[in-house]
Amino acid sequence: MLAILHPNTALDSEAYRQTMEYLENLPGVSIRVHEIQGASQRLTEIYLLGDTKSLEKAEIEALPAVERAIRISEDYRILGRHKDDQRQSGFTYNGVEFSQNNLNIFAGLCAVDVPEHVEMMLQALEDNGEVCTRMGAYKPRTNPYSFQGHGKGCLPWVFEKAGKHGIKVIAMEITHESHIEEIDTCLEKLGRPTGVMLQVGTRNTQNFELLKAIGRQSTYPVLLKRGFGITLNESLNAAEYLASEGNANVIFCLRGMKTEAGLPHRNMVDFAHVPAVKRLTRMPVCVDPSHSVGSRDQSPDGILDVMHATAQGVIAGANMVLVDFHPNPQQALVDGPQAMLLDELPWFLEDMQIARQAWEKRVALAQDNLKSP
Ligand code: PEP
Ligand code: MN
Repeated sequence: MLAILHPNTALDSEAYRQTMEYLENLPGVSIRVHEIQGASQRLTEIYLLGDTKSLEKAEIEALPAVERAIRISEDYRILGRHKDDQRQSGFTYNGVEFSQNNLNIFAGLCAVDVPEHVEMMLQALEDNGEVCTRMGAYKPRTNPYSFQGHGKGCLPWVFEKAGKHGIKVIAMEITHESHIEEIDTCLEKLGRPTGVMLQVGTRNTQNFELLKAIGRQSTYPVLLKRGFGITLNESLNAAEYLASEGNANVIFCLRGMKTEAGLPHRNMVDFAHVPAVKRLTRMPVCVDPSHSVGSRDQSPDGILDVMHATAQGVIAGANMVLVDFHPNPQQALVDGPQAMLLDELPWFLEDMQIARQAWEKRVALAQDNLKSP
């Protein structure tokens, strides 16, 4: 059972005290308080765990601080979408809104290499009015002898440049909890010129200790990639680990599944799951066409496979796109073969607009049909 308190309920109010006293004394029930700070109000949600079957919704809703109660299912308690659950999805971070209703594009470098390339990438984004990007500093590589990323050494100049070009959010993978502090210390020292969304890669989807460490902080939102060899349910539970530790600002990213059956693509594109994740959870859903498709192959209609795959995700209602670009893919230290070129950025963005508008038209059509008798 979930008890949602009236917005902005003061923790020192009599209503709160009485409500907590009642809940804390329910036999066999433990409680977990979850605070959500929105742009205009603070919401307190109280999860009642354990023996809650005998509780009545009306009993909980009668408590003075409670606005309404929702009976929640066992799975994805915090991030899930439960029956009669009207709660908003998403969050705002550094002025950028993330929800199940909008779309943000994160085009950028798979891996940070040299300042010139970062500069060129950021300039292209600024020229096209984009305020988000991806930049890898810590790269999890299959081969221990491959380039592992510049690590914390590149953070100061990457963050400074990003701020200069008006970037608000950088999706940056971390592979160890110590990286959170490295990023935080660096941003703080620079006066926070930009923001970071912590990315958990597909190789770490079930690294539960890493998830718990990331979940314990709420300064940075999280982009969690689906594990490439596990079920969707297992990956969604991994997302719930973050929320259960306190950070529910999580975006779920589909990036393809590892199977020979996906060939000629690097991974089997799984973007048909976009609406499934939106139905099962309240998380905004991201698609990563670069790591799914893995090449610059082009179909006879002139459209790159990467763009086709992205459009498939966006027309199905995706809320974020994470996509590799590079000014000179031959010189890229990681994943050059799948990178799009900087002069293809306007084309890519326009193509995404078309797909997004098609999704909006499809939603309107569905509404019309649902309304008609
Ligand atoms: C990446 O986005 O750079 C990456 C390594 O992706 P994945 O974890 O999906 O392989
Ligand atoms: Mn990559």
